[in-house]
Amino acid sequence: MSIQRTSFIGISIICCFHLSAQNKPATIPANKKSVLASVEKHQQELVNLSDSVWKFAETALQESKSATILARYAEQNGFNLRRGVAEMPTAFIAEYGTGKPVIAILGEFDALPGLSQKAQPVRAALSENAPGHGCGHNMFGAASLGAALAIKELIAAGKLKGTIRFYGTPAEEDVGGKIYMARAGLFNDVDVCLDWHPDFENKANMQSSQSMVSYMVEFKGKSAHAAADPWNGKSALDGAEFFTHGINYLREHVRPTVRMHYVFKKAGDVPNVIPADASVWIWIRDSKRSGVAAVEKRMREIAQGAATMAGVESSVRLTSGEYELLVNETGARTLQANMEMVGPVTYTAEEINFANTIMKEYGGEPKGINGAIKPLETTRPDPDGGSTDVGDVSYIVPEITLLAATAPYQAPWHSWVVVACGGMSIGHKGMLFAAKSLSATMVDLFENEKLRQDIRKEFDQRKGREVWNAMLPEGAPPVPEPKTQP
Ligand SMILES: [Zn+2]
Repeated sequence: MSIQRTSFIGISIICCFHLSAQNKPATIPANKKSVLASVEKHQQELVNLSDSVWKFAETALQESKSATILARYAEQNGFNLRRGVAEMPTAFIAEYGTGKPVIAILGEFDALPGLSQKAQPVRAALSENAPGHGCGHNMFGAASLGAALAIKELIAAGKLKGTIRFYGTPAEEDVGGKIYMARAGLFNDVDVCLDWHPDFENKANMQSSQSMVSYMVEFKGKSAHAAADPWNGKSALDGAEFFTHGINYLREHVRPTVRMHYVFKKAGDVPNVIPADASVWIWIRDSKRSGVAAVEKRMREIAQGAATMAGVESSVRLTSGEYELLVNETGARTLQANMEMVGPVTYTAEEINFANTIMKEYGGEPKGINGAIKPLETTRPDPDGGSTDVGDVSYIVPEITLLAATAPYQAPWHSWVVVACGGMSIGHKGMLFAAKSLSATMVDLFENEKLRQDIRKEFDQRKGREVWNAMLPEGAPPVPEPKTQP
């Protein structure tokens, strides 16, 4: 998802940033110099990984080629692999080192349906109706792995002690692979976890995300001829319609931060058969899990009431749910300092032209690319719209999130604009900036025990007495059958 979309300057910032580590000021500590040099040394491989995942463009829980090349790259570079964790063939953990601290970094790689697009500023599918990386997860996985590799090299050289762990996390755009991994206890021994997300700004994230829950509400009635003997029928569709009416009346009585959205998944096939089956897929969101829970209760009552009115049966089935992201300011401040050390990203005239052209083609405002590093924000009481399964991880372990510009300023997310930029140099620059900033931050986390303690203390305070419970149905994740090759 994209977490934040806010205000400010919409110009491309040009300044004297050089990509070479040799040009850094002498004050950069040795281990940080090493991780920056490592990302530069491997940058072509990381870009190739990102571009391959971009071309594969595999959707949730079907990311087999994408997961395979990321896992293989980690293995070739000396990581120990655990594949197919939490009953998902495309989920894996790559680990190096032993003992404490255990520092983790997340990597996503799933695409979105229907967004296939060439790496060019004019709309043209790479493959008609195929998926595309409209959320930039191709870069997410590759850059996080690059950051993990830089740390692995320092552990191997005896310069850092502890364990670095890369989590290959599938299906962020669907069921939320991290929730299944969290339910399997895979984050329990982690000290601090990091992640990043493609964006149109560079910043250490200080904003939460919405908690959400997804339900399938099903109605069962009895079919009959709609003209000959409708009195023998019981319409499941009536139940579904009463339900959505109830939800729409409920809108007047919820807090302004609540969002409810639904679609009819099943509503009958032909008008002259009274539908025996109908279903509504509904999502409920609010700033916090507790707010969602309050509305969920009313939703269940409305489903029951709707079924009673229609004389049919109803059932409410949880499909998944996510917690809001717990921000960690101590961690964000550490990340901010490292982002500033890495320095802003600059763009060529061709890249700025690409960005402006693509925004015009989309119908948006051409405002260049913003390579500056935003000052640390304060946390707003309520987040902007959107949810992420990183929220669940943030309830188990302190989480630090970076946002990196990989697209034109104010680019529309989940669109072909993001796909195009994620497959060319604008995206590549953003992901390498992310890899450097995250690996330098991890150096601090490995070296500084007091920092880890402070981060943990803040985490404990923010979490308070809230107990994390996976909002998932019983049983294994809904992994689809592998597609048969033609
Ligand atoms: Zn995303």
